[in-house]
Amino acid sequence: MSKILIIGAGGVGGVVTHKCAQLVDVFEEIVLASRNEAKCKKIAAQLNRPIETAQVDADNVSELVELISRVKPDMVINVALPYQDLTIMDACLETGVHYLDTANYEPLDTAKFEYSWQWAYQQKFEKAGLMALLGSGFDPGATNMFTAYIAKHYFDEIHTLDIIDVNGGDHGYPFATNFNPEINIREVTAECRHWEDGQFVETPAMSTQQTFTCPEGVGTYNIYRMYHEELESLTKHFPSLKKAQFWMSFGDAYLKHLEVLGNVGMTGIEPVEYNGQQIVPIQFLKALLPDPASLGPRTKGKTCIGCVVTGIKDGKEKTVYLYNICDHQQCYAEVQSQAISYTTGVPAMIGAKMMLEGKWMKPGVWNMEQLDPDPFMEDMNKYGLPWVVIEDPEFELA
Ligand code: NDP
Repeated sequence: MSKILIIGAGGVGGVVTHKCAQLVDVFEEIVLASRNEAKCKKIAAQLNRPIETAQVDADNVSELVELISRVKPDMVINVALPYQDLTIMDACLETGVHYLDTANYEPLDTAKFEYSWQWAYQQKFEKAGLMALLGSGFDPGATNMFTAYIAKHYFDEIHTLDIIDVNGGDHGYPFATNFNPEINIREVTAECRHWEDGQFVETPAMSTQQTFTCPEGVGTYNIYRMYHEELESLTKHFPSLKKAQFWMSFGDAYLKHLEVLGNVGMTGIEPVEYNGQQIVPIQFLKALLPDPASLGPRTKGKTCIGCVVTGIKDGKEKTVYLYNICDHQQCYAEVQSQAISYTTGVPAMIGAKMMLEGKWMKPGVWNMEQLDPDPFMEDMNKYGLPWVVIEDPEFELA
C-alpha cells in the first residue's frame, strides 16, 4: 500500500488520478498537484474517494522539494509537460522518491525531444537507489511494451517495426488537438526521422503517406510517417531492428489547418513583440484552441494503436500485429475523458503499479522495453486497454 504524488491536472492527469483512485489496495493515498489547484479540485470532486490537492510550480525545484518533503510520497507520477521532466527528476533525487513520466524531456526554447538529457541521470538514480521509469503512456509506453512482448513471445530476432497510431475519433471542431496543443503541434511539425540500416534518416514532415485499414471495422485512414520518441529507445534496445517507423493518422481538415497556421507563423516558438509585449505564437494559439480535457463529452469513435513486427522464428520469416482498440465514449463514461488521455493515463497507472508492487522496481533510469512486458500486458487487459495479437495479418505495409 502506497502514497503517490501526481503532478499535472490536465487531460492525462485526470485519467491517472481516476484510475489510481479505483485501486485502493495499491494506491492507498493520492495527492494531485498542479500549477492551478482549482483544476486538481475539479478532478478530485469527480472521484468516489477523497484525495488531497496542492498547488506547485513544477519548473521550480525548491517548490517541488518543499511539496514532496511535506507529502512524503513513495513515488511521483509526472503528467505535467515534458518541459518539467528534469526539474521533477532533480526534486525526486533530492527527496529520495521514485519517478515516472509519459513523455521525454523537451527544452522550452528548442523544438527538439530526445532521451539524452534523461538518460544522463542513470548513475544518479542508480546511486540513490531510486527508479525512474520513462515514457509510461501509450506511445511511448504501451507501444514499447507491445514491441517487447512480441519480440519475447513470437520471434528469435526482430527485423522491422511499424508503430501505427490511428485516431478514428471525431470531436466536431474544425481544428483541435487531442492532447496539449503546444506539445502536439511541435511534434507533428518536426522533421520526420525513421530508422533504416543502423541510422536515422530524415525526410520532410508529412511527406510519406499510405492508407491503413484497422481491424474490427474501425475504418480506413491515411497514415503519415513521422518521428516519435520511442523509436530512439526501441532501436537502441533492439539492435537487430533494420527498419523502424512510426505512423499516425491525420484527417485532411487537421492537416489543412496546420499548414495554414504554419504558413502564417502561428506555430512558431520564437517570441514576437506585440503592443510592447513578448508573445510566443504557439502559446497564444494554445490559448485559442479547445482545451483537450474538454473534448471528452464531444468525441465519438475509436482509436486503434498497435505494432507490426517482422522477423525470424525457427528460421522462418513471419509478421505479428498487436493492437488495442479504445472507444472514446466508453472512456468518457468511465473517467470523464476522451480516449487519447485515457490510453495515456492507464499505462501511467499500470507503470506506477508495476513499480510499487516490486515487479519492476530497480534503481536507475529505464525505458519500458528494458523491463519484463508480461505483468504489464496482463494489467492492460485488466484495467481498460485489452489487446489482440494477429499472426501473419493479411495487410502489407509500404
Ligand atoms: P495538458 O496540457 O492537458 O495538462 C498538463 C498539465 O500540467 C496542466 O494541468 C498544466 O497546468 C500542468 N502544468 C504545466 N506546467 C506546469 C508547471 N510548471 N507546474 C505545474 N503544473 C504544470 O496536457 P496532457 O494532459 O494532454 O499531457 C500531459 C503529459 O502527457 C504531457 O507531457 C504529454 O506530452 C504527455 N502525453 C503522453 C502521451 C503518450 O502516449 N506517451 C500521449 C499524450 C500526452 P495548467 O492547467 O495550469 O496549464
